[in-house]
Amino acid sequence: MSRTPLIAGNWKMNKNLKEVMSFIAGIDGKLPDPNRIEVAIAAPALYLIPLVQNRGTNPYKVSAENVYFENSGAFTGEISPAMLAAEGIDYSIIGHSERREYFHETDEEINKKAKALFAAGVTPILCCGETLETFEAGKTAEWVSGQIEAGLAGLTAEQVSNLVIAYEPIWAIGTGKTATPEIADKTCGVVRDTVRKLYGDETAEKVRIQYGGSVKPETIAELMAKPNIDGALVGGASLEPDSFLGLLNF
Ligand code: PGA
Repeated sequence: MSRTPLIAGNWKMNKNLKEVMSFIAGIDGKLPDPNRIEVAIAAPALYLIPLVQNRGTNPYKVSAENVYFENSGAFTGEISPAMLAAEGIDYSIIGHSERREYFHETDEEINKKAKALFAAGVTPILCCGETLETFEAGKTAEWVSGQIEAGLAGLTAEQVSNLVIAYEPIWAIGTGKTATPEIADKTCGVVRDTVRKLYGDETAEKVRIQYGGSVKPETIAELMAKPNIDGALVGGASLEPDSFLGLLNF
């Protein structure tokens, strides 16, 4: 079964509106055929609507970097799945390691976010990944499959077929240390096997699994050549149009 690769930029807490507009101008007319490669930009909540409204004919999808699991109410500072859906936002990252680490997000909250996003019609990009300590102790597979099982609890096979999972070893994020393509592929395979165990072959063959962690235009081709890697979630190298476009022309 062929899965359309998804390459997503994750801008994190970067840019102002002027820089967002100049990024859009910088990629104008230069994105690949969306049937061949799907492109998404994950941006701070402030810039999601400008990204949608200024898309023109450029076939990029727009993603939130985080979301809450309630749709409305007294939750000061949060944005909801219903708000994302109403503004035509396609995806939301959930469970990024920076949110798990700095904002103490738990697997249970991330699972609630996944359910709430699907209920609203927004596709989650569910992140998982181990620390250097866990990697060096040889416990990556156990750790990552635990995160996936907890993140997917209660989701249907149909939902999981449409889900995107990003495997991002924490020791490779923003450090310049990419996991080797072999390590990245092996752990993306562990993620796929976890989905297989829970939902069967058909779902496991449909779910898209990205690798993330210091992916650069120079390193993306060998990652994308691996059978279990269906795309990339890219921070630093997604911030400038030239580098972002370089990722898409692997
Ligand atoms: P990086 O970030 O590409 O800068 O390592 C990836 C991520 O955290 O999604």
